[in-house]
Amino acid sequence: MTDTPEWFRETLCPDYGLSLRVDRVLQESETGHQRLRLFENARFGRVLTLDGVIQTTTADEFIYHEMMAHVPILAHGAARRVLILGGGDGGLAREVLRHASVEQVTMVEIDAGVVAFSREHLPGLSAGAFDDPRLDLVIADGMAFVTQSSAQFDVILVDSTDPVGPGEVLFTDSFYGRAKARLAEGGILVTQNGVPFIQPEELRQSMRAFRALFRDATCYLATVPTYSGGPMALGWGTDGTARQTPVDVLRDRLEAAGFEPRYYTPEVHAAAFALPGYVARLMT
Ligand code: SAM
Repeated sequence: MTDTPEWFRETLCPDYGLSLRVDRVLQESETGHQRLRLFENARFGRVLTLDGVIQTTTADEFIYHEMMAHVPILAHGAARRVLILGGGDGGLAREVLRHASVEQVTMVEIDAGVVAFSREHLPGLSAGAFDDPRLDLVIADGMAFVTQSSAQFDVILVDSTDPVGPGEVLFTDSFYGRAKARLAEGGILVTQNGVPFIQPEELRQSMRAFRALFRDATCYLATVPTYSGGPMALGWGTDGTARQTPVDVLRDRLEAAGFEPRYYTPEVHAAAFALPGYVARLMT
């Protein structure tokens, strides 16, 4: 640490930004798609940023990854085929693969540089997921994949960057329509939809598209410290009834899965769908 520490300030919003002290810069590079930076912060551990926006930190990533994976997989109850779009750091794949019932995970990441970088500098995040024989890593644009593939999935998880740069297409109505076409009967689509207090239009637009596509269209919430400004929203779309799965059934399924999450509990799962008024109003 120097006498005058450097501070990282997130550049996602023009009028608001989280700052983290940079205790040590570990890596900086251009992947060809994005500018990647890894630094250390005493509270959050290793912090990965892409184009000036925090993607993940080793201290709080478990909250986001557990809530994105376990809510749809345990609600579905029989998810065998899972598609991840984005997620190059490997943290989401790690959580999905904790479910022994999941037979096949296809991960479509646009930037091979993020995967290579994370494997080298954040090995605890993927925790062997990239070597799991159930994982099929495809380096491609998620939009191109859902357009060209004819495969069907029980759960589709969009773990993308925000709607600027390569991630922008993954927030469009036509993307959501094509993702839906890749869902098997009863399948569930879950999307990263930002922090509604800070990015209300992002959620409003996504939910408008979800309502036109799905019988059950809503979002659920998780509080992730480095996605600051209030709870973050995860979009939820399905034509099935998985959202009604009772808490005691979720509890049985988690017990059968045989692992202990750090954030996710069946009670948190049920409560995450209770929306404060300002978020619920973005759904209408
Ligand atoms: N949880 C994180 C967040 O919201 O801050 C996202 C983490 S993950 C690193 C995001 C990944 O999405 C990045 O590795 C990026 O390369 C990938 N990505 C962005 N646009 C994409 C696209 N069109 N198709 C596939 N992957 C994409």
